Amino acid sequence: MISIQGKGVSTGVAMGPLYYYQRAKSVIRRYQVEDAAAEWDRFKAAQAKAVEQLGDLAEKAREEAGDEAALLFETHQMMAEDMDYEEAIQGLINDEKLNAEAAVTDVAAQFAEMFAQMDDTYMQARAADVKDVSGRIIGILTGVVQGGIDSPVPVVLAADDLAPSETVQLDKSKILGFITEGGSGSSHTAILARTMGIPAIIGVGNQLKPEFEGREVIVDGSTGSIVVDADDATRAVMMAKREEQLKRQKLLEQLKGQPNITKDGQSIKVFCNIGNPEDVAAVLSNDGGGIGLFRSEFLYLNCSDYPTEDYQFEAYKKALSDMGGREVVIRTLDIGADKQIDYFQMPKEENPALGNRALRICLNRPEIFKTQLRALYRASAFGKLGIMFPMVTSVWEVKEARKMCELVKKELTEEGKPFADDVQIGIMIETPAAAVMSDRLAKLVDFFSCGTNDLTQYTLACDRQNNDLGRFFNPHHPAVLRLLKMVCDNAHRNGVWVGICGELGADLELTETFLSIGIDELSVSPRSVLPLRQKIREVTVSEVKEKVLGELLSDEITL
Ligand code: PEP
Ligand code: MG
Repeated sequence: MISIQGKGVSTGVAMGPLYYYQRAKSVIRRYQVEDAAAEWDRFKAAQAKAVEQLGDLAEKAREEAGDEAALLFETHQMMAEDMDYEEAIQGLINDEKLNAEAAVTDVAAQFAEMFAQMDDTYMQARAADVKDVSGRIIGILTGVVQGGIDSPVPVVLAADDLAPSETVQLDKSKILGFITEGGSGSSHTAILARTMGIPAIIGVGNQLKPEFEGREVIVDGSTGSIVVDADDATRAVMMAKREEQLKRQKLLEQLKGQPNITKDGQSIKVFCNIGNPEDVAAVLSNDGGGIGLFRSEFLYLNCSDYPTEDYQFEAYKKALSDMGGREVVIRTLDIGADKQIDYFQMPKEENPALGNRALRICLNRPEIFKTQLRALYRASAFGKLGIMFPMVTSVWEVKEARKMCELVKKELTEEGKPFADDVQIGIMIETPAAAVMSDRLAKLVDFFSCGTNDLTQYTLACDRQNNDLGRFFNPHHPAVLRLLKMVCDNAHRNGVWVGICGELGADLELTETFLSIGIDELSVSPRSVLPLRQKIREVTVSEVKEKVLGELLSDEITL
């Protein structure tokens, strides 16, 4: 039995075979084949498998986001079987005796170049499609699995680290738990694990060895402990813990349908954070009162090209309709920093967290922003929508974003396309500048939602991706909490509601503080709704408020 210690970032106990994440190899071997006919058959088999996979993806997309979403994969299917494409590959295999993966690589590069040179922007965008389709075929030829998991049974997935774009594409039904060598608790991969309700442990360094592949592991996401080939006694203890958790979950179930109200009658909304319309099921099953943060960029991360207005419309409409009239706050695109997307072709930055990200990209590239806002307003006819802008620092940014909303509404009115007239507009407070200017910003919006992940990062000058900052990265830091109080006071003075959608919202050690400073809404991962409700219902705000605020605002220190 081998014990390994990491940092637990998503609770729960899971047991299953260990499986190392397969990342697409960047180096494609190039060699001469002796039997060109056999090589051609190898290509044809890979092509057929790719077409089959794309068909499955199209079906999945149709179920989750409608016909428009499925179209992308159907187009990819056609591309994989395109005659010119196929003939070019056959030419290289037959005439030059090139191996299939090298032939596909060369033809993909030629076709992508050809599309990129075209005048029509639609055709230019096909360059990314041909690369994507070819990447899939090459993956099959080289034995690298798209989606990263080629196992008939669910596994505990291990990786050096996982980018958000890799995590969103994983087949969730195959994952029992995550283990990564690097990573940090407030990285988007950890956030996704929590949203999916999957136990996750990060920062195990080189303790995980390749020879552990396929062996049974037990992970405990609350303590960060991992056991490989557990002995009977340890397995029994861990399984008892799992039982205990299931029992606790059952008890929490009794809180479904109950209000989020303190002992002395103060109520607070408990909403959920999601990354795509599929997550609505978890929101409803955990009795979330609404959606306080839909990270719309995950839709973009899931696509190989800019998602069209219709594609986005279907996804937003689905989330809004499935929520049946409950509030849904959708955040406009927040890419940049750790969420990079190839087709945006963003220049490399020295400090991407301080660079061109989120609303900055939208204001610099209005065509992308407008497409998203049109989709959002069209979807607003199907539910109760709030639109939220991320990474605000200045009043002028919000004014410019609002102007774009007005332009979109004018266009839709002229086109006779319906939209709701009660869409709320809000901003994320996730920079110290926005917190300090919240008295003025409040005059421009209906709500604030505090992004404590970034607010902590920017206030404390601590990279949220860096797992080695230890005690320096402290989201409980009074500087962060004082900013939250300032934001709350400024919001309420101006009749604006204020929520927290960063990970801190689910931190039960701070629930009393949030209630004392008057936060109106906490938006957390679906699994955190019921534990948070339980905590809220145990608090008597009038008994704790003076002490909590006194400690927060005191200038005393202990020497
Ligand atoms: C935050 O910064 O707290 C937040 C909710 O946004 P994200 O984690 O997606 O940056
Ligand atoms: Mg943020």
